[in-house]
Amino acid sequence: MSLSDDELERYARHLVLREVGGPGQARIRAARVLVIGAGGLGSPVALYLAAAGVGTIGLVDDDRVSLSNLQRQILFRTADVGRRKVEAGAAALAALNPGVTVAAHPVRLTAANAAALFGGYDIIADGSDNFETRFLVNDAAYAARKILVSAAVTEFEGQLATYKAHDGISPCYRCLFAAPPPPGTAPSCSETGVLGAVAGVMGSLQALEILKEITGIGTGLAGRLLIYEALTARFRTIAVPRDPGCKLHHP
Ligand SMILES: [Zn+2]
Repeated sequence: MSLSDDELERYARHLVLREVGGPGQARIRAARVLVIGAGGLGSPVALYLAAAGVGTIGLVDDDRVSLSNLQRQILFRTADVGRRKVEAGAAALAALNPGVTVAAHPVRLTAANAAALFGGYDIIADGSDNFETRFLVNDAAYAARKILVSAAVTEFEGQLATYKAHDGISPCYRCLFAAPPPPGTAPSCSETGVLGAVAGVMGSLQALEILKEITGIGTGLAGRLLIYEALTARFRTIAVPRDPGCKLHHP
């Protein structure tokens, strides 16, 4: 799996990193990452993964680009308003890096299609905007034994964690949040608002943690929750233990 002359130049700043180098870049090229939600988080995630040379990137979203998306969804341009997000997103990623394969999945993730979708990927990136999808993604990723890197933003705060409970040691999303809040009780992003750059910070961190999982460098966020408070410019990381009473996996 040697790199072409073009790849040697494109990824020069990765290749000089001792921790990444040629072997790390080859791992990045072989990696397959599925991004759930082409929104405020999915945009920076997909852009940084494509720029980094992740060989296969899947986009799952059944929505179309609207004018109110552009304040934070940096994958899209004004001319994309009205287009399917996965189609406009795939075009943007191909323009950034023609060397990566982008698979557009213009569907809503459901319990019925999750297993088939996840089967084609190594790592799942959750940037969805509702609790129902977050629990579905967690359960399907666990069943398929895929690493899940999950980010969320509200107003001026962001959260990020990595879940791989199939290792038998670390927690899943349900260990942290036992069940979704009753429908209608949790305000959505469109109701509470979000400062666009907060999604940019969290999505960039999410892409970074995915690249760490792919290359095996550093210490990941399995068993830890990273919290960013934008208004005070503070980052905190708290330990998240595996719950012996978790309904998904005992113990
Ligand atoms: Zn659990």
